[in-house]
Amino acid sequence: MDFTKIIDTHTHIFPDTLAPRAIASLAEHSGDYKPHTEGTLNSLLTSMDEAGIHTSWIANIATKPSQTSSIIAWSKEIAGERIFPLGSVYPYSDTWEKDIDDLFNAGIRAVKLHPLYQHFYADAPDLYDFFSMLEKKGIMTVLHAGYDIGFGKADNAHPSRIRTLVERHPSLTLVAAHLGGWDAWKDVLPCLAGSSCYFDTSFSHETDKSLLESIMEKHGIDRLVFGSDSPWLNQKQQVLFIKSLGLSEADEQKIFFKNASNLQSRYSLLAKKN
Ligand SMILES: [Zn+2]
Repeated sequence: MDFTKIIDTHTHIFPDTLAPRAIASLAEHSGDYKPHTEGTLNSLLTSMDEAGIHTSWIANIATKPSQTSSIIAWSKEIAGERIFPLGSVYPYSDTWEKDIDDLFNAGIRAVKLHPLYQHFYADAPDLYDFFSMLEKKGIMTVLHAGYDIGFGKADNAHPSRIRTLVERHPSLTLVAAHLGGWDAWKDVLPCLAGSSCYFDTSFSHETDKSLLESIMEKHGIDRLVFGSDSPWLNQKQQVLFIKSLGLSEADEQKIFFKNASNLQSRYSLLAKKN
């Protein structure tokens, strides 16, 4: 295994023709966070080169039920050695079973879901069958966690709700973004740290240092993966932040590469086909 590589499990890009409009409209709701790339594949690759990142996962989000198929088509186009695209399904789509089948048949084994943009609660009882299907099909689920700057105090993805989801679906491989819950870290510690899901590290630099250390210690290095949330944060700065924590080399390698690499090799059928 090559430990010199870095995998960024949380980035956003869009097809070239859509990127300017998508980035501009997202930036309207992103407060002080300004985009660090143009939101295109090429600008992400440039950012990756600057940061020494080998592979980026692309966190596509179907904000409308109809978007699953266009995300599948684009994912097939961009998948490759350095780009690992995640599919997406709108959970309350009338056709969610077919949508999951379609992306499974296209070779996609990982999805990104966002409770705020997709209008669901992480622990909604009526989504039991939806998450059971992802669990049974062996589809890794990357989930936005915590509050979202564009949605005020809406708690759809609160760490306690994600805890319920994790317990309801013990075989589902779940990655909770933003260290288990953006701006809800004091609740992450009692509610979600130490559970069987993974956390990505994006925005962890905003956590109080001692709280960050407590969350990392309780959750365990083996279930932490590096994520930047590019373009909203700068990939290189996020790499440097993790390096500033004073972790052992072995722990750094797990966060930057080993843990995500294990997940990627289990869930990256599409990339292998290319
Ligand atoms: Zn994100």
